[in-house]
Amino acid sequence: MSDPRDLLRSYLRQRAELGDAELVLDRHTPREVRELLSPRPSADASRAPSRPASAPPAAPSSTPARDASPVPIRTSEAPPPHVRGGAQPPGDTPMRPAVDAPARGVSTEEIFALPVLASVRDIALGCPRCGLAKTRTRVVFGEGSETAELMVVGEAPGENEDRQGRPFVGKAGQLLDLLLMTVGFPRESVYICNVLKCRPPGNRNPLPPEVEACSPYLLKQVELVRPKVIMAFGTFAAQTLLGTDVAIGKLRGRVHAYRGTPLVPTYHPAALLRNPGWVRAVWDDLQRARSILE
Ligand code: URA
Repeated sequence: MSDPRDLLRSYLRQRAELGDAELVLDRHTPREVRELLSPRPSADASRAPSRPASAPPAAPSSTPARDASPVPIRTSEAPPPHVRGGAQPPGDTPMRPAVDAPARGVSTEEIFALPVLASVRDIALGCPRCGLAKTRTRVVFGEGSETAELMVVGEAPGENEDRQGRPFVGKAGQLLDLLLMTVGFPRESVYICNVLKCRPPGNRNPLPPEVEACSPYLLKQVELVRPKVIMAFGTFAAQTLLGTDVAIGKLRGRVHAYRGTPLVPTYHPAALLRNPGWVRAVWDDLQRARSILE
């Protein structure tokens, strides 16, 4: 079942079998749901803002949900030293073509002093701060609404992202878009970035020095977008932002905090493609994020 729409169909079927199909439809008209699941969604359908999903998921998640129970909130200026993660930068919307500027030295202090996302992006596009500068095709800074209430943070660009200079544009990204839409967050309404802005060769895990070098960009993205909630997709993003090496299965299911901003960890969409049974948990986590904004 590799098509993300199949995953979503299967999940919605399960919900219907559990008797809560109307919980979907009370947030989406039947037409919206049909468009969402149609084999070739129209450009309009994928752009049309969805109404917020309000209905609680039918089944309880395996991990009990708790209200904001802050976990290590970082207080130091530098991001946590380790754990895989790559963060992508906030996008100034619309994104400019991702053509790397000439590399030049740039200090952490210089990045911290930048006043607006556009200038952070300009610097990031020519970033020479780690070895990935030599292997990347494009810097994937991030994109989306600069006033987004929800910030999505993934791990690092993959092959498609490296080629296009945009975050989450491959299969996992398509699934992410669908999942966001079903809870009322069309892609263009959120800010999407990664812990690392450059693709690790062969999609290997980010290395600690790469995370350290890249972290100032993510910190500035959070500071300048000022989201009301951050969703960390995958082990690497969640562990990096929370400064822990606790497994994602244990982190998800409750609200943490990142420098005072509520943070909801969940499984990475690529993991969902391999484990369709986790869709329900991610749905629960998305609802958890939405409920913070209501
Ligand atoms: N996986 C990520 O974590 N980020 C992307 O942008 C693409 C795939």
